[in-house]
Amino acid sequence: MFDWLIVGAGFAGSVLAERIASQRNESVLLIDRRSHVGGNAYDCYNEAGILIHRYGPHIFHTNAQSIVDYLSRFTAWRSYEHRVLSSVDGKLLPIPINLDTINKLYDLDLTSEQLEQFFASRRETVDEIRTAEDVVVSTVGRELYEKFFRGYTRKQWGVDPSQLAKSVTARVPTRTDRDDRYFGDTFQKMPAGGYTRMFQRMLDNPKIKVMLQTDYREICDSIPFRRMIFTGPVDEYFDWRLGPLPYRSLRFEHVTLDREQFQPVAVVNYPQTEDYTRITEYKHLTGQRSPKTSLTYEYPTDIGDPYYPVPRAENEALYKRYEALAAECPDVWFVGRLATYRYYNMDQVVGQALATFARIQKSLPSTTGA
Ligand code: FAD
Ligand code: UDP
Repeated sequence: MFDWLIVGAGFAGSVLAERIASQRNESVLLIDRRSHVGGNAYDCYNEAGILIHRYGPHIFHTNAQSIVDYLSRFTAWRSYEHRVLSSVDGKLLPIPINLDTINKLYDLDLTSEQLEQFFASRRETVDEIRTAEDVVVSTVGRELYEKFFRGYTRKQWGVDPSQLAKSVTARVPTRTDRDDRYFGDTFQKMPAGGYTRMFQRMLDNPKIKVMLQTDYREICDSIPFRRMIFTGPVDEYFDWRLGPLPYRSLRFEHVTLDREQFQPVAVVNYPQTEDYTRITEYKHLTGQRSPKTSLTYEYPTDIGDPYYPVPRAENEALYKRYEALAAECPDVWFVGRLATYRYYNMDQVVGQALATFARIQKSLPSTTGA
């Protein structure tokens, strides 16, 4: 009999396994239907010996010192500030849009103050900012929206930005200075030995048994457990009883080239051309040296593993109904990006998992007296 069954060995499941085993001294069976731990943050060395991210580029960034402190127990960090270029009108330009983006795009020499006026003269008045389109046109105007956002968003989500919640494009700021970092967070670093190594250290506890290539459905009736944490898709848990929640997927094309470098930064976005959204070159993220280089092309699709909840009012309403079903399962905790249908970054999932652990500590006496 396990004290806990945890379904999913990504950030949500692994953080909770670690906390429960180390702080409550309770036994955990952590399962995943994939062949590895780490969930979407999984990284591995490919045949050329280059550390790649199997499910696309994962860059750690946060403003929460407590989350950094927690993860730092399991990894050292490599300094890395993420920079992204966007291929627009045949030029590679900084995204988020900043002073250099505009000056290079239009061959101008504006100052920051002049750029403020430039945006002011182009932005559209939107009474209530509701959609992913509204956010951008009300900040930089329609032309820049069409060049940098509309095509990328249509590819990524399969719908027009006017059909998506404002939170989607609000993730990307607009700047009038020359700051070309993709994220503005106080802490931006990569796990020095990679994500998978960090997960392995997190799960290195005799109280945790990891079972891979195992679906929850295969074992839930045969392996006894007291309580469960579920980090897979919430609609799947309830057998899609209320209908399927939409998720967006990606097809990853991984390639290795016989040259040292392919592109000037880790990620180049393609909002106007190509079927893929972006190309990632991993050596920029990891600092690895090699005469070869490995890339990933991301092709968005509706078919395949669920990666992104789709932020739209109607999906949120359906999720709320699943959430109500989940609330009726007192011995199951639903945590993570898929189980709570949230477009969360890694640090937010760690924060959610730690907050869930605090709730468990408050509401459940430990079976081991720890
Ligand atoms: P997941 O990592 O999805 O883990 C859930 C696990 O549950 C999976 O391994 C799955 O196989 C397993 N599972 C599901 N159902 C079952 C079942 N029935 N039985 C057994 N196992 C099951 N965040 C950042 O902070 N920075 C980034 O740069 C970043 N880049 C990203 C790029 C891409 C392409 C994607 C898709 C996401 C990115 N993210 C990034 C988000 C990040 O991946 C997530 O926040 C985080 O990995 C979510 O962790 P999780 O544990 O909730 O879910
Ligand atoms: N986006 C865009 N053009 C870009 C970058 C982002 O249109 O060059 C939009 C797109 O809809 C994307 C969203 O902004 O899904 C959020 O971007 P972010 O880089 O945060 O997405 P992530 O890859 O982290 O999911």
